[in-house]
Amino acid sequence: MRLFDLTGKVALVTGGNGGIGLGMAHGLAQAGASLALAGRNAAKAETALAELAGLGARAEFVAGDVTRAADCRALVEQTVARFGRLDILVNNAGTAIRKMPQDYTEAEWREVLDTNLTGAFLCSQAAYPAMVAAGGGKMINIGSMMSLFGAPYATPYAASKGGIVQMTRALATAWAKDDIQVNAVLPGWIDTDLTRTARRQVEGLHDRVVARTPAGRWGVPADLAGVAVFLAGPGSDFVTGTAIPVDGGFSVAM
Ligand code: NDP
Repeated sequence: MRLFDLTGKVALVTGGNGGIGLGMAHGLAQAGASLALAGRNAAKAETALAELAGLGARAEFVAGDVTRAADCRALVEQTVARFGRLDILVNNAGTAIRKMPQDYTEAEWREVLDTNLTGAFLCSQAAYPAMVAAGGGKMINIGSMMSLFGAPYATPYAASKGGIVQMTRALATAWAKDDIQVNAVLPGWIDTDLTRTARRQVEGLHDRVVARTPAGRWGVPADLAGVAVFLAGPGSDFVTGTAIPVDGGFSVAM
């Protein structure tokens, strides 16, 4: 269906070498897009690239650390050099450090903010000229339930993910005239490396999530594929500045 057809489109997915980013990349690939998967760990990307090749998609790894502005520019430059254009940016790279607020060092605070929020801004800024050159584009920023809620062990993470929603709104208003739509996705609790660590560190988390989620289960990266295709394709051309929960009902339940 044309509304969800990404044939000929090129997507750059930060942190696309695993977890939610790879789940979204699967959806984009199945809709016809070519993929540049960005991250720091090339070895982890090998499996991801093999999976996408199995779907018949063209996919390549582009190495970079989103906390560095020069790397963000290089990720976009490498994508355009290898694929000829950039239509879709998924700002998915993220990290978490779980502590009580009084225990964070300044470096830890900055690491989380630099990765989750500043990295997304720097990649968006780097991608903007390429999208203008392509005649428009789609940016998808990954927020979290921590964009909406707080938790004692997540001060910098919640600050970064709240910031993602407001940054999304600001960029959406700035770049609508360029036919660039900027939206956020707020995943619920999804089974990935990140949350496997959380389940080790936060006692009882696994069962609390299942009990608190109306769908009665953890999400999986594949649960994010559909929203990625919608927000990357022509079906969302008049949708911008939104923050869409993909959470099995977590954010609407008492
Ligand atoms: P993963 O740890 O599986 O994936 C995170 C990805 O980000 C990795 O592929 C990693 O690649 C990349 N990354 C981290 N830091 C950097 C950096 N400085 N530069 C470039 N890439 C980086 O976690 P998830 O898939 O769970 O998380 C993906 C996103 O989804 C994050 O933004 C997270 O906050 C968000 N999220 C996750 C939820 C969940 O329940 N899992 C819920 C809500 C939001 P590499 O190691 O190669 O750099």
